[in-house]
Amino acid sequence: MYIKTGDLVEVVRGKDRGKRGEVQRVVRGKFKYGRRKGQHDPDHDRVVVAGVNLIVKHQRATGRVQTQTGRITREAPIHHSNVMLVCPHCDRPTRVNIDRSTGKKVRVCKKCGQPIDKY
Ligand SMILES: [Zn+2]
Repeated sequence: MYIKTGDLVEVVRGKDRGKRGEVQRVVRGKFKYGRRKGQHDPDHDRVVVAGVNLIVKHQRATGRVQTQTGRITREAPIHHSNVMLVCPHCDRPTRVNIDRSTGKKVRVCKKCGQPIDKY
C-alpha cells in the first residue's frame, strides 16, 4: 500500500465517492485464521479518512470508567483500494511509481511525473 498518514486521498468507490480527506490512520491488515493468522495481510490494509465512511456508534456506559456515551459519529476504516492518492502538483487522483534512484523510496505521480515525497 502506498498511502501514508497525512496524505490527501479521494474516494473512488462507494457512497462517499468523490469525497476528499486527509488520512488519519493506516490500519495494517491481518490474516484472521489459518497458518498465517495474525501476520500482515496486505489485501486487508485499510485507511481512516477524515469525514469519510462515517458510522454512528452506540456507546453504552461501561462500569465506572468515564467515557463519552450515546450516539457517537465517527470514521470507520475504508479499504485502500477504494481510495486514490491525490497528487499535490496536478490535483488529480493518481497511482504512483516508486523511484529508488536516490537510495530512498520516493513516490512519483503517474499522471504528471512529479515527486510526491521529498527527495
Ligand atoms: Zn501529478
